[in-house]
Amino acid sequence: MDTSTGVLTVNLDAVVRNWHLLCAQAPNSIVAAVIKADAYGLGARRVGQVLHRAGCRDFFFATVDEALAVADVLPGDARRYILGGFAVGEERKLLEAGLTPVLSTLAEVQRWQQLLAVTGAEAQCALKFDSGMTRMGLAAKDLLSLGADESKCRRLGVRLVMSHLACADEALHPQNREQLSSFNSVRDQLRAHCPDVAFSLANSSGIFLGDDYHADLVRPGAALYGVNPDTRGANPMQPVVGLSLPVRQLRQLKRPSRIGYGAELELPAGTVLAVAAGGYADGLHRILGASGVGEMAGVEVAVAGRVSMDSTIFDVTAVPNIQAIARGELKAPSIEVLNAQLDVSRVAARNRALGYEVLTSVRAARYRREYRGGEQ
Ligand SMILES: *Cc1c(COP(=O)(O)O)cnc(C)c1O
Repeated sequence: MDTSTGVLTVNLDAVVRNWHLLCAQAPNSIVAAVIKADAYGLGARRVGQVLHRAGCRDFFFATVDEALAVADVLPGDARRYILGGFAVGEERKLLEAGLTPVLSTLAEVQRWQQLLAVTGAEAQCALKFDSGMTRMGLAAKDLLSLGADESKCRRLGVRLVMSHLACADEALHPQNREQLSSFNSVRDQLRAHCPDVAFSLANSSGIFLGDDYHADLVRPGAALYGVNPDTRGANPMQPVVGLSLPVRQLRQLKRPSRIGYGAELELPAGTVLAVAAGGYADGLHRILGASGVGEMAGVEVAVAGRVSMDSTIFDVTAVPNIQAIARGELKAPSIEVLNAQLDVSRVAARNRALGYEVLTSVRAARYRREYRGGEQ
């Protein structure tokens, strides 16, 4: 169907295959799914649903509202963790919705404890500690003194203790080993008191650092969506996302002309330009980067001039039959800016951006989202 805006395709079968691939990579661990930020822009409802159907039971969100937005599609046997903490007053909402908070400060631990005492409710939580990233998390010594109080741990309903790697995508970074040894030391000390608690350290890239990083549960996000988790080699994940932009106008230059805002680029007579729907308001500056390319009819085409808010100009001179297309005798094919060849990780590498930024940049955009696969 013709559209006036770009079409973002999400291959749900590829998401499921990627989850199975991660299960094979960490065969002795529970493989959770991080579907925060609307599954990195791809749609947490659809992604959560197909992964649950595939057998995934542990889902991570950043906020309470994110988890509530998918509550009706995740059956009751799904555990929903909230990574980002909770505001004062929000703890009741968590409890009522059956969500599992990841407690990262002593104040949160205290508030959760008080809530359980006041309501008499039984619920579970996770504890996060800082093994070296210096972002969120309890200090290791606070966690250890908490863990030494077995009855307190039981009353809090601690089910999972986790930490997060800062440099997992740089396999040789010495901090990986340092964080692993801090994690293992905390784990060994806590295990003595709390034998039923599970431990988790690895995100997507952490899974590819080796078995010793897997612990009881791994928390991949990006790899599920096709971002390369193994920065040492070829991308083992299947591409999930495609983005194609309809062409709104085609023109052949009659004389040398300056192109777009700032008139920074001049192109010679004879050049054929296509104006595609989609600009920086649609995240395209992230997707295309400084030296942007797309594909039209399988031919690589470069961005010409600056990306505008709502549109982007491509030099499509090299596309076969472009003269006939420019004369209106043939329909202009869409310009693909993400596909199996222009995959998220390659695009990101060219941009010196992160695959994560490329993906989450498309989420607020004016694209029509189309899903492929995902049938039972
Ligand atoms: C976002 C997040 C993840 C997922 O990370 P990826 O690199 O996308 O796999 C895992 N754990 C925590 C704590 C996170 O915040």
